[in-house]
Amino acid sequence: MMDTLFRLSHEHKEARARFGAFCRERVRPGAAQRDRDGVPIPNDLFREAAGHGLVGMTVPREAGGSGCDWWTWGQTLESVAYEGDDSSFPMLLAYRETAANLVFSSRRADLVERYVRPHVRGESFIGWAFTEIDDYFNLQTTAKQVQGGYRVTGFKPAVTGGMGDESFLVYARNEAGTDVRVVLVHRDSPGLTVEPRPTLGLRGLGLASLRLSDVFVPEDRVVVASDGISHAQRFIRDRRLTLAAWATGRLFSLLEKVIDALTPLTRFGERVIQAKSVQMEIGRMVLGIEIIRAVTERMLRDADAQMPLTTLSFSVGKHVGATQAIEVAHIAQKLVGGAGFWQDQGFDRYLRDLYGLLPILGGPIALETELGLRAIEHRAMERRLDER
Ligand SMILES: Cc1cc2nc3c(=O)[nH]c(=O)nc-3n(C[C@H](O)[C@H](O)[C@H](O)COP(=O)(O)OP(=O)(O)OC[C@H]3O[C@@H](n4cnc5c(N)ncnc54)[C@H](O)[C@@H]3O)c2cc1C
Repeated sequence: MMDTLFRLSHEHKEARARFGAFCRERVRPGAAQRDRDGVPIPNDLFREAAGHGLVGMTVPREAGGSGCDWWTWGQTLESVAYEGDDSSFPMLLAYRETAANLVFSSRRADLVERYVRPHVRGESFIGWAFTEIDDYFNLQTTAKQVQGGYRVTGFKPAVTGGMGDESFLVYARNEAGTDVRVVLVHRDSPGLTVEPRPTLGLRGLGLASLRLSDVFVPEDRVVVASDGISHAQRFIRDRRLTLAAWATGRLFSLLEKVIDALTPLTRFGERVIQAKSVQMEIGRMVLGIEIIRAVTERMLRDADAQMPLTTLSFSVGKHVGATQAIEVAHIAQKLVGGAGFWQDQGFDRYLRDLYGLLPILGGPIALETELGLRAIEHRAMERRLDER
């Protein structure tokens, strides 16, 4: 159905040919159980994925990766999400990939050897520990300079993949509180406590909190000595580029599931699937999916064309991706009746997983406020120019 209705791209089909069997045979079978038990996707599965060339796809060739473009990566995540029946798997793939690329961008051979190449081989992974309960611009985690390195103290409440990562990119303020450093903290460092973070959905992510108490980090594990906020922005940018791509893959399968569940149903002697109101709601699901695809394609193509990606396109992309995905999942819940509520039918997982998109990297209120403010500022700027 997807091939004909949605006209899947060549890159999506290629990803299916390369990774489809792995996703169907190795990722899909454990997905529902992992969700029920809150069990993280095992690193062994990632190791296998690396063996198929799925890990390291975006990492530059000089570090052992395939250096693929944004569009190919987005289409790959879309396919993997559909075939694997697991939202956590593509999201974790994308997060870990971005963290590895951020370390690569330091252009330091020692860091590439120690962290990036093992990522590509699927041997060990890096987590991204940026956000805190406090404002981005007022991080409470500190990295104080001592003999031979730094002492890091603080708390990071949510790290995707944290339960399975071997090291973490930790963002911490300097002594004076005027700048942010980025350091690599090893999982086995004395003073670091990694704890699971039970969640509403996306339970295979292995989300963890990090508590750092006077953790020593040697000088050579400083990735960025200053302006860590700009460093974090790059992660945020990359995440916003791909977030909706895997959500689309999940929505493809939700749409199919809804049609399949409704097809045999009869109510008041009428076939449910033939009711115009039901067809209209299914149409709204298709509409939502197509809106996400259109916005995501624009972002990915612009990124590949090295166009300056404005905050506007990112904010709209993130907002549309998250809110439309949740809207589509809501329609599904309404349409399938009680089946949406019985856990064994598997409908609930979509909505719970997709809710995870909402807060990530800016919730709707923050994005709408930002967009409104920008529009007002631009109009004021124009007026000033006109008056000159
Ligand atoms: C599944 C998942 C995975 C994550 N993985 C990671 C990870 O790997 N690494 C990491 O560092 N972090 C991670 N996070 C944390 C994530 O980055 C934060 O949740 C996100 O940045 C939003 O911050 P917040 O949760 O404090 O909510 P906020 O967006 O700050 O929202 C809190 C409240 O403030 C309101 N608000 C925010 N801004 C404004 C505004 N401008 N005007 C008015 N109201 C506003 C919101 O509407 C909301 O009511 C993850 C989160 C999730 C859900």
